[in-house]
Amino acid sequence: MPDAILRIALPSPLRRLFDYRAPPGVPRSALQPGARLRVPFGRRELIGILIEVTDHSEVPADKLKPARQLLDAQSPLPPALFKLCLWTAQYYQHSLGDTLSWALPVLLRQGEPAEVRQQRFWHLAAGAQLDDPRLSRAPRQREALQTIAQHPHGVAQQLLGQLQLSRESLGLLHEKGLVRIEIRRHAASERHLNWLAEPELPLNPEQRSAAEAIRAGFGRFNAFLLAGVTGSGKTEVYLQLIRETLEAGKQALVLIPEINLGPQTLARFERRFNARIALLHSGVNDRERLDAWLAARDGEADIIIGTRSALFTPMQRPGLIIIDEEHDASYKQQEGLRYHARDLAVVRAHQENIPILLGSATPSMESLHNAHSGRYALLHLHQRAGGAQQPRFLRLDVKSRPLDSGISAPMQQAIAQTLAAGQQVLVFLNRRGFAPTLLCHDCGWLSECPRCDARMTVHQRSGELRCHHCGHVERQPSNCPTCNNVDLRPVGAGTERAEERLGILFPQVPVLRVDRDSTSRKEAMTSLFNTVQRGAPCILVGTQMLAKGHHFPRVTLVAILDADGGLFSADFRASERMAQLIVQVAGRAGRAEEPGKVIIQSHLADHPLLVQLTEQGYFAFAEQALSERRSAGLPPFCHLALLRAEAHKPGQAEGFLDEACNAAELLVNELKLSGIELLGPVPAPMERRAGRYRAQLLVQANARAPLHRLLGSWMLALEQMPGGRAVRWSLDVDPIDLF
Ligand code: ADP
Ligand code: ZN
Ligand code: ZN
Repeated sequence: MPDAILRIALPSPLRRLFDYRAPPGVPRSALQPGARLRVPFGRRELIGILIEVTDHSEVPADKLKPARQLLDAQSPLPPALFKLCLWTAQYYQHSLGDTLSWALPVLLRQGEPAEVRQQRFWHLAAGAQLDDPRLSRAPRQREALQTIAQHPHGVAQQLLGQLQLSRESLGLLHEKGLVRIEIRRHAASERHLNWLAEPELPLNPEQRSAAEAIRAGFGRFNAFLLAGVTGSGKTEVYLQLIRETLEAGKQALVLIPEINLGPQTLARFERRFNARIALLHSGVNDRERLDAWLAARDGEADIIIGTRSALFTPMQRPGLIIIDEEHDASYKQQEGLRYHARDLAVVRAHQENIPILLGSATPSMESLHNAHSGRYALLHLHQRAGGAQQPRFLRLDVKSRPLDSGISAPMQQAIAQTLAAGQQVLVFLNRRGFAPTLLCHDCGWLSECPRCDARMTVHQRSGELRCHHCGHVERQPSNCPTCNNVDLRPVGAGTERAEERLGILFPQVPVLRVDRDSTSRKEAMTSLFNTVQRGAPCILVGTQMLAKGHHFPRVTLVAILDADGGLFSADFRASERMAQLIVQVAGRAGRAEEPGKVIIQSHLADHPLLVQLTEQGYFAFAEQALSERRSAGLPPFCHLALLRAEAHKPGQAEGFLDEACNAAELLVNELKLSGIELLGPVPAPMERRAGRYRAQLLVQANARAPLHRLLGSWMLALEQMPGGRAVRWSLDVDPIDLF
C-alpha cells in the first residue's frame, strides 16, 4: 500500500495546500480530516489542518517531509463551520489555511488541546487518618492534609495558592494514598423550565408585530432587517426572540460592534436569562475565549455574544443569529482576511438553515437594498419604546461666521441656554486631539508627517504632534523647524481644543471628554458616566465613541460641530457614514419629558442630503442616497474588489499593479467575462503612509459570478508574478473603504 499523503492547509498567504507524509508511527486510520498537525515549514514549524488523505502527490517522494505530530483525534472544527470557512476563503479569495487559522481561537492555533479545560480537585482519600503516623515528621504535609479535610467538596487546583497549599506536599500525600484527585469537566448547563431571570416587558404593538413576523420565520433560513429608531426597543425584541430560541432547545448567536463604552448590553443579557452566556470580545483573554468557543461548540453555552470574529463560533444546536447595529463598520475586518461579519452571518444562517435578524436605527445601504429587492423582510419600529420623542434637528449655516475653537456664537448661546435650564449638552466632533495641524504664521510651514502624506495632529496636553495614520510621534516644536519663528499656530479644532474652550466659556459646569485618548482607562469611563447619570448640568465632548451604546437621558442638546467632512469627501460612502453618525449621536439624547434638540453646524447647510436627513429623517436620506448610487453605478448596484499594493520605492507598487491589470485583461478575454471594468492603477488617495508608497486598482463588476471567476484565476496568476515579491499586496472584496 502506498504511503498516505496528507494534504494540509497551512496558515500561509499562498492559496494552495501542502503535501506531507504521516507523522512516524501514526496509522492512516488515525488521520481524520480537520485534525491539526504540527509540520516543518522551511525553518519554522507551523500548525496546519488536514484537508484530505490521498495516495498521490505532485511532489517527488524524496522531497516529501513527514508531519511531526498529530494534535487531534477528531476535527476540533465541526463540519458546518468548516463549510463556512471554505465559503469564506473562496469568496474573499483568501488562502484556506489562513482562513481556518483566523476562525480558530488563538490557543488552538498554537496547538492547545481542543478540550474544555478540566479542573482538578483535591480530596481526602477514603480511610485517610489525619494523624497518620507517616506524617509525624512531616508537619507541612500534616497541615496540608488538615486543610484538605476542611473542604468536604474538594479544593480546586487554582485555589491551592490562596490556601497556602504547596503542590509538593500534596504530591507526597498523593503518593501515600492520603489524598485523591478528581477531574471535573464543566457541567453542561441544565435545561431550564424557566429561562427568565427577570420578567419581560410587555411589547408595544410595533414590537409585537415585528416579533411575530420573525417568529413566523423560525426553524428555517429567513433574513430580517429590523429598522428601529434608537430607543425603539430593538434589544427587547432580540431578548424575547432569544428566549423562544432557548425554549426550543437551540442556541442564539449575537454579534455586537466593538465595544467602546463598556459592557452595558452584556449586563442586560445576563440580567434577563438563567442561561450560560459565552462571551467572545476583545476584553476576554485567550483562555476564556477558548473555553467559550468550546462551550458553544459542545452545546454547553446557550447564548453566544461577541464582536466580529465571534461569527466563527461553532454551535451544536444553532437556532438564531442576531447582528446588532448591522451598519457598524467594525464588522468589516480591515487586515488579513478582509471579511464582513454581517455578510458572512447571512451566509452562515443560510447554510445552517436558521433565521437571522439584522438590527439598526440606521441600516446600511447594502441591507436596505437587500430589503427592497426582497432578500430581507423589512420591519420598522418608528416610536421610542419609553414614550420619548424623536429629537428635532436644526441646521446652522456657519458660512462666513467666525468659529471660536470650532464653536459658532449661536451654538454657544444654545449651549448656555441648555445649561441654564439645568440640562446637559453633548458636543460631537469626530476629530481627536487639539488641532489637526500646526502652522507657522511666518513661512507657512505645516506639521507634516515624515512618513505619510498627512499632517500630524497637535496634542496640546501631552505637548506632542501625532500622526493618526501611522502612529509617528514628535515633541511639539516651540520654534518653526524651517524659519525658527516662534509664532506657531494650531489650525482647526479637535475634541481637546473644544474641551478646553468650553471649559473657559462655561466654568460653572464640568466638561467631560470622551475619545480614544481620554478613555483608555475603564474606571475613568465608569466614573465619567456616573457623573452624567447623576443628571447635574454638564457638557460631554467627544468623537464617535459617544455614538455607541450609551443613553444619556438628561442630555437635551446635541451640538454637532462639523458635518462637512461627510458632504464633500471623495469617498462615496462618506455621506452615509455622516448620516449614520448624526442619527446615532442624536439618538443618545432626550427622554419623555425633555425632548432633544440637535444643532448641526455646516458650511453646506443647504446640501440636499443634509436637508433630507434633518427634515425627513434617515430613511428619506437613504432613499435619496440609494438613488444617487444607482444612477452612478456604485455599490450596492455594482460589485467591487480593490487590489492594494505598497512598496518602499516610489513607482514599485504601481508597476506591479500595471502588470496585474494586464493579467486581468487577458483573463477577462480568455474567460469571456462581461460587465467587468478595471479602474486604475492609481496612487492611493494618501499615497505615502508609514513610509510606504501605495497604489490601488479597482475592479468593478455588474454581477458577482463573473467577478469571482476572474478573481479566482487572477489571484493565482498574481502569486506567480515576480513583480509581486518586492511589494506588499492584498485583495479586498467588497471594500468599505477605498483609501
Ligand atoms: P434599542 O435597542 O432600539 O435602542 P432598547 O431595547 O434599548 O431600544 O429600549 C430602549 C428603552 O426602552 C429601554 O430602556 C427599554 O427598557 C425600554 N423599552 C423597550 N421596550 C419596551 C416596552 N415594550 N415597554 C416599555 N419600555 C420598553
Ligand atoms: Zn516658519
Ligand atoms: Zn504618519
